[in-house]
Amino acid sequence: MKPKNKFQKQIFELSKKLPPITETQVKWAYLNCFEHFGFRTKKGVITCLECGTSWKSEQILIDSICGCSCLNCRIELKIKDTRKKTFRDYQYFCIITTFKGFQVLRFFYVSYEAKAGVEAKYFHSEVLQKWIAPDGKNVTVARLQIASYLGGNWNFKSNLEIRPNRNHHNIMPACIYPRQRLIPEIKRSGYRRNFFKLTPFDLFHALLTESKAETLLKAGQTPLLKYFTDSSSRNISDYWPSVKICIRNGYQITDASIWCDYINLLRFFEKDLHNAKYVCPIDLKAEHDRYVRKKREWQKQQDREKAKRKALKDNERFTELKSRFFGICFTDGLIHVRVLESVDEIIQEGDVLKHCVFTNDYHLKPDSLILSACIDNKRIETIEVSLSKLKILQSRGVCNKNTEYHDVIIALVKKNIHLIRKRLKAA
Ligand SMILES: [Zn+2]
Repeated sequence: MKPKNKFQKQIFELSKKLPPITETQVKWAYLNCFEHFGFRTKKGVITCLECGTSWKSEQILIDSICGCSCLNCRIELKIKDTRKKTFRDYQYFCIITTFKGFQVLRFFYVSYEAKAGVEAKYFHSEVLQKWIAPDGKNVTVARLQIASYLGGNWNFKSNLEIRPNRNHHNIMPACIYPRQRLIPEIKRSGYRRNFFKLTPFDLFHALLTESKAETLLKAGQTPLLKYFTDSSSRNISDYWPSVKICIRNGYQITDASIWCDYINLLRFFEKDLHNAKYVCPIDLKAEHDRYVRKKREWQKQQDREKAKRKALKDNERFTELKSRFFGICFTDGLIHVRVLESVDEIIQEGDVLKHCVFTNDYHLKPDSLILSACIDNKRIETIEVSLSKLKILQSRGVCNKNTEYHDVIIALVKKNIHLIRKRLKAA
């Protein structure tokens, strides 16, 4: 990609002037980026994968636990009992340097191929540079990747060019060269060669763009620093007053995500977020869990109140629609039929008879009137009458089935339908 603006043009020109990696740095990378293996056969013959030398060792147990050094090249070897003959690996190696006022992170792809009996083959290529200005503005210079989602698939023949910033350009190196050159802004930030499992770019960028990152680093609140640098969903400013209380009280936040959750819970319950009593709990996990339970209770209570409000509202509407029929009841001596007079009664009727007549808000339909048929106060069937047609729409017993009284009930309602008509006329 061609440099698009002045900044990119400047970086592109500077990147060409960076000195090549030195022999010393290459050697250091080869030695430190990989584990070095000695393959051991069943007969106890160890082959150093670095130089290809083999020898027979008698101290099987000691070798297995402590490893051993090669008799020829002296490299420290980890012993593997295997019949495998080859070994391959690749890693990233990072050199932290400066150039003309920029902080530069240079990433090298380093690979290693070993075959028992021959000297190991190493390869390295600079694949990526991150150029960071003291204000955090940055540019990626990189080679092309064949398939960017697969690590390591670099096209080593492509040029180091300005590339759009992509996630896979934010590399976590296996090791970083110990001699580092830093711009004054990073030196002052409290950076002490520890990245706290952040990528070098993420840490430097955070330190250059967010003064709070520097405060966290200097105060040793590194889990928090890592958490806020990693997660874009939470903004450190929302927690800052409480963070400052923790720092002032020497309270170390070890589990940043739980602590932030906990602060949100405190906020929800309108607790004082400037009070160490709340924000610096001795047992964070226990306090967090206690507030989680409290919030769950609160939510349940909300649900209950919501259900109550709905029932109340429904009942108002129900009364408005059906109160003119309240009080209607008739009997043939055995079966008693009466109009149901509240949402509560309707719900109970549905619960006892286990039918679904009422789950669809039948009782709120202006045209339906719901009556209940009982014998000795025991609910037998529920009847729905169409008010416009003065006809029985349905009569249902337990689980929507008809009972032995079904026909008698229908006849009884029909016989007394004039009671309903009378109320309709009166309105
Ligand atoms: Zn060796």
